[in-house]
Amino acid sequence: MLPERTDVLVVGAGPTGLAVAVTLAGHGVTTTVVDRLAAPPVTSRAAVVHAGTLEVLDRIGVADPLAARGLRSARFSVRDRDRLLLTVRFDRLPSRYPYALLISQAETEAVLADRLTALGGRVLRSYELTGLDLDGYGATARFADGGAVRARWVVGADGMHSRVRELAGIGFGGPADPGESFLLADVRVDSALPRDQVSLFLSRGGPLVWAPLPDGTVRLVATVDAAPREPRAHHFQALLDERGPVRRPDRVTEVVWASRFRIHHRIASRYRSGPVLLAGDAAHVHSPAGGQGMNLGLRDAVALGEALAAGPEALDRYAADRRPRAEEVLGFAAGLTRLAAAPPALRPLRDLLLRTASALPPARRRLAVRLAGFEPAPLPPDLPPEPPQRGGRSGSSVRR
Ligand SMILES: Cc1cc2nc3c(=O)[nH]c(=O)nc-3n(C[C@H](O)[C@H](O)[C@H](O)COP(=O)(O)OP(=O)(O)OC[C@H]3O[C@@H](n4cnc5c(N)ncnc54)[C@H](O)[C@@H]3O)c2cc1C
Repeated sequence: MLPERTDVLVVGAGPTGLAVAVTLAGHGVTTTVVDRLAAPPVTSRAAVVHAGTLEVLDRIGVADPLAARGLRSARFSVRDRDRLLLTVRFDRLPSRYPYALLISQAETEAVLADRLTALGGRVLRSYELTGLDLDGYGATARFADGGAVRARWVVGADGMHSRVRELAGIGFGGPADPGESFLLADVRVDSALPRDQVSLFLSRGGPLVWAPLPDGTVRLVATVDAAPREPRAHHFQALLDERGPVRRPDRVTEVVWASRFRIHHRIASRYRSGPVLLAGDAAHVHSPAGGQGMNLGLRDAVALGEALAAGPEALDRYAADRRPRAEEVLGFAAGLTRLAAAPPALRPLRDLLLRTASALPPARRRLAVRLAGFEPAPLPPDLPPEPPQRGGRSGSSVRR
């Protein structure tokens, strides 16, 4: 049952909301986590947790149990059909976690939920936030079942279509393009590609990510011009034929799970509006190329949990520090897409640049650190003042 009051109300129990809640529970802050879903989703979504994220998750006791359940990938390679253009080595990273951990998002969420339970917390399910009244002392959150909770702080960890963001009047801008269209599947495949690394194929049609998963399946993610409503084996076979290896071509033997989705590149205009704070997909969305989306959200989450535990000044720092991180990651993901789609005349130059980078240890190291999600230290505390607070709104319809 919903409590009447709480210090922090976390809306959304995806990876971001769970990680905020675990961080707060570790600091003894009274927290209520709600999610509109009756049970956690079991669908396959993000598949990699990077070293920089594991270092951050180690602060909340989650990295080791996660590492025990995933597949450790020491390398990331960039290919153009049979040609290996670049290899990035994670095993040289100065980290306790010198690898990219391949693990399904459902498992990552399960590990976070177990940690929350161990710290005495839990997710209150089937509660959909529909209204938010903001005032100088906090917020009153209203739910579809007629319930209400009074909270000092509200965390919007409610994903790309965030109701919290909308109700707080925070913009979610981006180019007015139709977004990028993706096909995604977990497949069984006969393949000669190495199973200890993620391969990114650069192709004129767009990037194709080939990532081995702990259960022996392979995650394929590719941008496409028009995604079929019900993607099937022959669609993924066609993608591999068009973009994958030629000498020893891959053969799809089974599609375990498949989906299509469209992503716009967007960042929230601000991460804080009075008592409302955003994190994860509620604050930023971008292409999954490079596997950065959930990772950025998890790092937001721990930073926000620690800031909420530290007090209001730290919250302004959170808001000022995290948005530029999202800008960087969005730029990086867009760059990977541009590299893949380079016009034929520029491809020899692109390939030469990648091969040169591959031969230069400092360039390779920089790329490894970037992909692994290591972030520079947070900004110092001399911050611009927070923009004036806007009034909240109530309602029940979702905009998108
Ligand atoms: C098909 C697909 C494939 C993806 N592939 C990748 C990938 O390969 N790599 C990668 O890094 N990322 C990938 N992503 C993105 C990744 O899944 C997200 O970055 C990640 O889930 C964000 O976590 P989050 O907790 O911020 O938001 P979400 O996981 O979206 O969680 C938000 C939660 O809020 C709840 N909620 C929403 N509205 C309300 C409300 N009004 N009241 C109460 N609860 C609410 C939802 O039920 C949900 O549980 C993929 C996403 C999809 C859909």
